[in-house]
Parts: sequence; structure tokens; C-alpha cells
Amino acid sequence: MNRQEAAAILKDNLYGFVGDDITEALYLAVEALEGPAPDPKTGLVPCGCGCKPELRDDGWGWHQVYCTGCDMHGGNSHTPDGVIEEWNTAMGWRVEG
Ligand SMILES: [Zn+2]
Repeated sequence: MNRQEAAAILKDNLYGFVGDDITEALYLAVEALEGPAPDPKTGLVPCGCGCKPELRDDGWGWHQVYCTGCDMHGGNSHTPDGVIEEWNTAMGWRVEG
């Protein structure tokens, strides 16, 4: 089931749940509402293309998040924390607080 199929099932069930696919549709809806989550190892949210980005250091003290899948990249900074936060925000991650 993809997101569009899940949305169609949810629309059909707006006035009362019927059908066996509703549980799967609800799980997909919850995942979509939760949005992307940072990788526990890298702290980086996946790129919009679906690939895992990486944190790069140019050897001169500049850091940048780069996606090897689509060549998307964030800005440069002397500290990794800033570029990770910038990347994650751009990819839809929000820290609720
Ligand atoms: Zn990408």
C-alpha cells in the first residue's frame, strides 16, 4: 500500500471504519504525520530522494552535509552541529518542545 492508496482508504472511512486495510492505512498515516526521523548513528534525517546523507569534513575545518544519491548539500560551517541542524530542518525534521 502506498500513501495515495492509504489516503483513499482513510477518506472512505471518515464516517466509520470499514474494511480490512484500515489498520495498514492508519500506520502509514501516522508515519507520514510523524515525518522523517534522524538516523541514531549520524543524527541526520534522510534526504528527500530517500538516500542517507553523510557529514563531510574538507580537511580545512569546514563541514557540510552531502547526499551521495542526488548531490544535494547543505551549507558549510566550522562546526558539525550547525550543518546537521540545518540539514534536518530542511528535510522536515522538527524538534517538538
Ligand atoms: Zn538525495
